[in-house]
Amino acid sequence: MENVYINILIIIVSILIYHIFITIHQIFKKNSKYVLVILSALSIVLCMHFPIYEQHGHVYDLRFIPMFIGAIYGGRNVVLSLVIFSVVNRFFIGGDGFYVYLITITVVLFFLYYWYIPRFNSLLLKQKLIYSMFIAMFYPILEFLICHLWFGTLEHIPPRLIGVSLITNLFVTVGVIYLIEYLRKANELMENYYIQDKFKGLSEMASSISHEVRNPLTVTKGFIQLVMNDEKIEIEKRNLHLGLALQELNRAESIITDYLTYAKPYEEINLEQLDVIEEIKYTVNVLNPLALMNNVHIQVKHQQNEAYLIKNDKKKFHQIIINLSKNAIEAMPSGGDLVIKISKESKFVSIEISDTGVGMTEEELSRLGTPFFSMKEKGTGLGTMVVFSLVDTLNGRISVTSIKREGTTFQLLFKSVDHIAVSE
Ligand code: ADP
Ligand code: MG
Repeated sequence: MENVYINILIIIVSILIYHIFITIHQIFKKNSKYVLVILSALSIVLCMHFPIYEQHGHVYDLRFIPMFIGAIYGGRNVVLSLVIFSVVNRFFIGGDGFYVYLITITVVLFFLYYWYIPRFNSLLLKQKLIYSMFIAMFYPILEFLICHLWFGTLEHIPPRLIGVSLITNLFVTVGVIYLIEYLRKANELMENYYIQDKFKGLSEMASSISHEVRNPLTVTKGFIQLVMNDEKIEIEKRNLHLGLALQELNRAESIITDYLTYAKPYEEINLEQLDVIEEIKYTVNVLNPLALMNNVHIQVKHQQNEAYLIKNDKKKFHQIIINLSKNAIEAMPSGGDLVIKISKESKFVSIEISDTGVGMTEEELSRLGTPFFSMKEKGTGLGTMVVFSLVDTLNGRISVTSIKREGTTFQLLFKSVDHIAVSE
């Protein structure tokens, strides 16, 4: 009878494994029914492999428990497959006890299928425990009863076995359900915590955004009022004021765009094959006016006759390069070199954006990417945050090295298309 402990251990371990699987990856969570079927089937086989009692064609073990658990947490299809599976297994063990098992499990299956499974999820924990307790006791009683009717006697079955089976079925089932419900609750709490945390982050950002947007709007309002109130305003002065107002509005707009990109990074990703050199050239054209104004010389370096292809979202890729290059240009107020180097690094296309600007200290580097960390008078501190979030969404990698007063290099890595094709 020592196998009782082995049976209990098998059941508890398989439940813990199930719990670990569904928490480590979304894929297992989505296919949790399959995980449940496989683990329950495995427990059934293992329980049958270590029978608590096996004589005169009678086999007794705790296989009912994993089946019952599979039934109430997996539903009708799971219980059907598990019952068929266990019956086939029992058939190969042989003996007259097979028919007793077949009849018992069929009766219980009908009961579970039509009565208990449809109700189970809407029960309170206490009800789940009490109902399951009765079923867990009902099963061995029914089995012994049918055994008695079939063979006309129970003399092959030691009375101790009847006692042990009633007690173990009862306690193990109740204990296991309690354990599962406890783990589920813990899991739910954790998920809620993550959702709340993200939500809190977003709403905190939203309130700071409104604050950040208010400044440029106030300034804009001021300039427009200046123009409105002065009827004899010279055209030059008027254009200057309106120009400044427009500039501030652009700033407000860019803060909102950046925030939305952060809040919804998954929206509308259009993956297509991109030629990195071509896209970098496009962004350099966009950046050239700003570079000229700051006396910055932009250089693009790459191997001749080499193609650098990646699968990426064109607009988001442009945004990443533009945000990083803008920072690089702004880090060189008295001019310098902005070098964009494209190369291949094993499976990846690497894009390095280096400047000879002011650089960052360790402390500044560690704060990079957090909202509103900006060393600039008119900075938003959203640019790098958006870059980090976009690179992550696009399955890329990003790293930074920086030396104060010498310069900064951002490196981006995206999987090269030839390697995507091979690994898919
Ligand atoms: P913003 O440009 O509006 O300040 P970012 O998120 O783009 O916001 O950048 C945050 C801060 O990180 C900048 O204010 C700057 O201090 C620092 N930074 C980013 N890139 C560089 C760089 N290439 N060189 C030096 N400092 C940088
Ligand atoms: Mg910036």
